[in-house]
Amino acid sequence: MAGNKTFTMLKPDAVENGYTGAILEQITASGFRIVAMKLTQMTKADAEKFYDIHKERPFFGELVEFMTRGPIVAAILEKENAVEDFRTLIGATNPEEAAEGTIRKKYATSIGENAVHGSDSDENAGIEGSFHFAGREIF
Ligand code: UDP
Repeated sequence: MAGNKTFTMLKPDAVENGYTGAILEQITASGFRIVAMKLTQMTKADAEKFYDIHKERPFFGELVEFMTRGPIVAAILEKENAVEDFRTLIGATNPEEAAEGTIRKKYATSIGENAVHGSDSDENAGIEGSFHFAGREIF
């Protein structure tokens, strides 16, 4: 059975461009409840660990550089079928391929600087949420 939580980050491009409020508004208007949230900045070690699965990919260095260049908004979201519904809401990795109205279509600038992260499985949602939040920070 699908879980009811997912993990997201509003990436440095979205925060820099002043899209934090608009993106959070779209997320909550789409039925997600924020159960944990903070403004934080990842260290190089954090980003390398978070994206470890991509360490052999050619874009890994650029991705770590990007994700550490400024603050992000990290959050845990709750909704029935959260992982899948949130992936639908954010759209394809490449904003050029993302459906109209999705967060990436509206706010991303490139396949790398694509505004928002969404967990791709219930298992990863748990791992990623725990990476950023202590139990007492999750409501
Ligand atoms: N990424 C990139 N170049 C690529 C593919 C991905 O810079 O060709 C970055 C992008 O920021 C993406 C992240 O790496 O969101 C993780 O990639 P993944 O394929 O897991 O995409 P996602 O699950 O975020 O849609």
